[in-house]
Amino acid sequence: LGRLYGPLTALANVRVDVMTALVSFERVFEVLDLVPMVADKPDAGTLPADAARVEFDHVAFRYPTADEVSLASLESVAVLDRARSGEVLHDVSFTAEPGQMIALVGPSGAGKTTITSLLGRLYDATGGAVRIGGHDVRDVTLASLRDTVGVVTQDSHMFHDTIRGNLLYARPGAADDDLWAALRAANIGDLVAGLPDGLDTVVGERGHRLSGGEKQRLAIARLLLKAPSVVVLDEATAHLDSESEAAVQAALANALRGRTALVIAHRLSTVRDADQILVVDGGRIVERGRHEDLLARGGTYADLYHRQFRDPAAPAPSAPAPHPV
Ligand code: ADP
Ligand code: MG
Repeated sequence: LGRLYGPLTALANVRVDVMTALVSFERVFEVLDLVPMVADKPDAGTLPADAARVEFDHVAFRYPTADEVSLASLESVAVLDRARSGEVLHDVSFTAEPGQMIALVGPSGAGKTTITSLLGRLYDATGGAVRIGGHDVRDVTLASLRDTVGVVTQDSHMFHDTIRGNLLYARPGAADDDLWAALRAANIGDLVAGLPDGLDTVVGERGHRLSGGEKQRLAIARLLLKAPSVVVLDEATAHLDSESEAAVQAALANALRGRTALVIAHRLSTVRDADQILVVDGGRIVERGRHEDLLARGGTYADLYHRQFRDPAAPAPSAPAPHPV
């Protein structure tokens, strides 16, 4: 029974999500599936808010299966066998120094999103360690960890609430001046100021409908208010038309300034500016370095570059076009 409390504790972090989905109890179980067995240790410490050095130290990972969750305590041979076969990350090691931007590139299914999900402890590594500012993420409270790591994915979620309510979720008690500063830095200040109800505008299905790009920029405003020292961007500009993409890119530039960033990128400009590019394939880092060096190597990155990055307007020769990051 104790096992149930882990997911429930983790649920505290997504309570608003769950509340907005009260009509759909299935959602709750989806969330439970998302966060199996991740919980604060009884003696968990607080991750200092300024912790910014990100370190993956020989990290291995496999996704838990549903029956493993119930079998996990049995240490059965079957479980251990599966542990060896279903691994999706193998020996992933890298360091992002404070303020650096690391770009993760590689084919779909390579393991890029999985790598970033271990940072905010959506799951725990099954081998090795993930550290922020020298602290193993398993040794600190989930609340302090999630204050330190901010994430923007391709589909940001806004609650059925006012813009103010959506922003305060990131920093309860923030003054309106701070909200406006964040909105301006996220390149959406003018738009909100132009709405008849301003910050009191209700967004969502039954309120003011936000375009994909507006939603992303509000999510970035939320991130700026939270001011995490580490930022993860997972294809944050995917699925946007080029005009909204440019607006979101400008907002992202502000969000990244002075922060350590892991960016899953499909845009050459992002990749070329990265302090380090990690090329991920089959759950491993197969190449690493800066753009020019990797290009000169003529390996996987060079291949990817010639197929995907060189002329972003040109579709990939075969296969579905990779989404732009
Ligand atoms: P990428 O972000 O590079 O496209 P992912 O990290 O999403 O790749 O996926 C890496 C591998 O892990 C893939 O084989 C994918 O099918 C698998 N995977 C991703 N999410 C889950 C999950 N929740 N449960 C089980 N397997 C998953
Ligand atoms: Mg992904």
